[in-house]
Amino acid sequence: MQELVGILAKKYYPKIVELRHQIHMHPELEFEEENTAHLVCKILDEYKISYERNIAKTGILASIKGKDGGKCVLLRADMDALAVQEKTGLSYASKIEGKMHACGHDGHTAALVGAGLILNELKDKFKGTIKLMFQPAEEGSGGAKPMIESGILENPKVDAVFGCHLWGPLLENTAQIVSGEMMAGVDVFDLEFIGKGGHGAHPHTTIDPIVMAAKFISDIQCVVSRRLKPVDAGVITIGKISAGTTFNVIADSAFLKGTARFLSEENQKILQNSIENIAKAVAFEFGGDFKLDYKREYPPLINDESAAKIARKAFAKILGEENIIHTAKPDMGAEDFSFLTRERKGAYVFLGISKDLKNPTLHHSSTFCWDDKNLNVLMQGDAMMALEFLQN
Ligand SMILES: [Zn+2]
Ligand SMILES: [Zn+2]
Repeated sequence: MQELVGILAKKYYPKIVELRHQIHMHPELEFEEENTAHLVCKILDEYKISYERNIAKTGILASIKGKDGGKCVLLRADMDALAVQEKTGLSYASKIEGKMHACGHDGHTAALVGAGLILNELKDKFKGTIKLMFQPAEEGSGGAKPMIESGILENPKVDAVFGCHLWGPLLENTAQIVSGEMMAGVDVFDLEFIGKGGHGAHPHTTIDPIVMAAKFISDIQCVVSRRLKPVDAGVITIGKISAGTTFNVIADSAFLKGTARFLSEENQKILQNSIENIAKAVAFEFGGDFKLDYKREYPPLINDESAAKIARKAFAKILGEENIIHTAKPDMGAEDFSFLTRERKGAYVFLGISKDLKNPTLHHSSTFCWDDKNLNVLMQGDAMMALEFLQN
């Protein structure tokens, strides 16, 4: 089958490169992916692949039915771009001011269309159904969850899910596919310390929220080191702080914005409780008050062992066994593919795009760029993961 997939990938490659360039030139931010969805649907129409669109605003679910019986597998791509001004100088650079495909989602979308065209030609050669999920908003508020809530994992019931991210920290033509912990879960929080403003020379008549904020920031540094098991990973970062107006005025309140990262729900609870407890303790210590708005965003991304094995087998057929990395420490970045792996067994793959690891390709940077030829690997990899799963 891999040989056939390779031949078909070659056939569709120019079309998929053109699609990637079109998407790249017209990047769209989360839940605005109208033109991207239109480009995808135009090709699906051309090849008579059935789909449903406008799921969770701009999402698409296409479906390719093979021979009767068999299982159902879902392949996923994300479609959104970032608020970054492109500085690559590429001939197909972004034409939209301040927006750029700086994470590779243009490639994910184009390659999944390519995999769809390949699989559509092979539909009399496999048993079962392949669903293609094109989701909005991976970067921000998350399009996977509302798409799942709209029922994409049912009718027919999806048995396994696979996805892939083009990945700067890896060399081209290598893939990292681990079993178990893969990427972190992420929560975000807004915290306000409420004090009592006054004269900078008379702190005893005030409740200083800046000192409360400073104490909080200092105290939470012990949560990961003292509350989590030493071998478990966790992060608490305060990314934003604002308070006060000038040197001789004590402010009324201080605002903090932060994120917590974890690899298990158990540790998520520990981080969340610690943040709340320390905020409460600090407010009590100074006689002030606090308001905490803690939001659970993405769960951790955990690869199922049997699904990871299938993904490894699929990519090994394209890249060679020696180019598959089986073990790696989890990345504390987050990915809303985790909502899919929470519902069904699945695996998420990192596919390398760097030419030199001394100078790796940096995601979310204004100079992020990668070679079109990686589309050839990705569309074959997507197609092979589905076929391997259905045949096993
Ligand atoms: Zn990204
Ligand atoms: Zn991304």
